[in-house]
Amino acid sequence: MIFNNEVKEVIDMHLHIDGCYEDDGADVLNGFDEYIEKGPFRAVCIAALPSGKKGKANRDPSNNIMAAFCKMANPKVYAFGGLTYPDYPQDPDKLGDMELDIQYKELMEIGFDGIKMLEGKPNLYKYVGNRLDSDMFDKFFAEAEKNGTHILMHACDPIQFWTEEYATPEYIAKGWSYVSGDYPTKEELYSQIENVLKKHPKLIITFAHFYFMADELERLGDIFDRYENVGVDITPGGEMYLSFNEDRDKSRAFFSKYSERIMLGTDGCFPKCMRAMEWLADRTYRYITTDDTFKGFDDKYQTGLLLEKTAQENILSKNFLRKVGESPREINKEALKRYIEKYKHLIKDEKAISLIEEYSKKFF
Ligand SMILES: [Zn+2]
Repeated sequence: MIFNNEVKEVIDMHLHIDGCYEDDGADVLNGFDEYIEKGPFRAVCIAALPSGKKGKANRDPSNNIMAAFCKMANPKVYAFGGLTYPDYPQDPDKLGDMELDIQYKELMEIGFDGIKMLEGKPNLYKYVGNRLDSDMFDKFFAEAEKNGTHILMHACDPIQFWTEEYATPEYIAKGWSYVSGDYPTKEELYSQIENVLKKHPKLIITFAHFYFMADELERLGDIFDRYENVGVDITPGGEMYLSFNEDRDKSRAFFSKYSERIMLGTDGCFPKCMRAMEWLADRTYRYITTDDTFKGFDDKYQTGLLLEKTAQENILSKNFLRKVGESPREINKEALKRYIEKYKHLIKDEKAISLIEEYSKKFF
């Protein structure tokens, strides 16, 4: 049973919509309703991924559009929009009216609550083909910093993905191996992001999956100490929880000290597998709010941190509300219409196109 402890206000700030928008007759508009009803969710947040899914080099701005429609259909849904790229690799000089700061303005005008970036994940990084600290991104980061826009960024991946042990055909097929194929190293990505933060020290940015530093808490604490608006989410990566569990006292001290920097997310995805989503929400929530010992990731037992009430509240909802907003922003229909007109030529999936037409009739 999910959330069987003292009921608290929770926001799952890291959900996705896959490129397929139907699931057993349930359409994407109400895709997360069943999930929201399972727990004390004040809200959920969809991180749109228009620039690449599951390591494939596909582009699909429909993901932003669907997330915007979801916001219109459900007042408990926040959404972070993503940047899209007309070419892979992207020649920055050919972006034209899709320069990233222009896209950012368009998304904020539509009423997105922040920006999601997957561009720091090694496979998408390679497709996009531009350094994160390069000029192509710089105006966008500058604007986001100036306006206090929250960015959720996936940067790096578990270190195992760079080891020979993971270079099996199975993992390579899943996009879980960076041993060969000209991928940046984990440290290379960290150093580019450090350059971005040096240049934009007030950037409000949350790194997904604990910034893949669950086994380097001192290092992460040092980044937190230097950049006041940097945070992480506890969206699994099971490997994170195995690291936390190695020294529970140390992990608990870290979570307590930096509770204002940490947010809860699960990576649940529509079309949904309710059992998996409940399991993920249950494990992350219990980890923060109880000292239960339970079967967690990789079938290993772990013991929850049972943080103090204030720290729990910070992680479960307050940080999100403070950094992103007390309620989801409203969708500006005219701005969304303009976005659809401008970007629909990049959408290849017939079903996505017809659904967008259907929802346009419904909402406009
Ligand atoms: Zn994710």
